[in-house]
Amino acid sequence: MGAARYQWMRLDFVPEQRPSDWLPEEFAGLTPEGPAQAADVTWRLCGAAAGPGWFVVGDAGVLLDPASSHGVLRALLSGSTAGGLAVAVANGALDAHRAAATYQRWLHEGAERDIHNLAGMYARIGAQGFG
Ligand SMILES: Cc1cc2nc3c(=O)[nH]c(=O)nc-3n(C[C@H](O)[C@H](O)[C@H](O)COP(=O)(O)OP(=O)(O)OC[C@H]3O[C@@H](n4cnc5c(N)ncnc54)[C@H](O)[C@@H]3O)c2cc1C
Repeated sequence: MGAARYQWMRLDFVPEQRPSDWLPEEFAGLTPEGPAQAADVTWRLCGAAAGPGWFVVGDAGVLLDPASSHGVLRALLSGSTAGGLAVAVANGALDAHRAAATYQRWLHEGAERDIHNLAGMYARIGAQGFG
């Protein structure tokens, strides 16, 4: 980012109406490089994340809000896991249905761990209704 360059983000539990040029108090004296942007980080889990010959990876497979801090890691790991399983299927070492089931289970178990941790963290700060 550079010594005199900052990035910030906030997470609203419900949509909030603030002026588009709103800044955290700590950054009020800084010059914005561009307009603030928004992303919908509603938790999403792809019900069918794999089948014979295909895998759904990255955020398309599992999307949790950035407080989970695993989005980039999951994107990389899901790509490499799907790649490894695809090679095993291509080599004849693994049946395509079994590869898909293995991937789906791996993806969902990881997501459930993150959901459990996130829900616990939000409960501790008084935000109910997660997980
Ligand atoms: C505000 C914010 C902060 C975050 N902070 C963190 C963090 O600190 N740590 C962390 O691990 N994760 C963080 N994440 C999550 C992380 O960014 C994502 O989990 C990760 O980028 C997912 O990678 P991906 O490759 O699956 O998807 P993306 O990075 O979204 O890449 C998908 C790409 O596909 C392109 N695309 C979409 N549709 C099409 C189309 N039809 N044709 C061609 N291209 C298309 C998009 O333009 C994009 O470039 C954050 C997310 C947000 C929104």
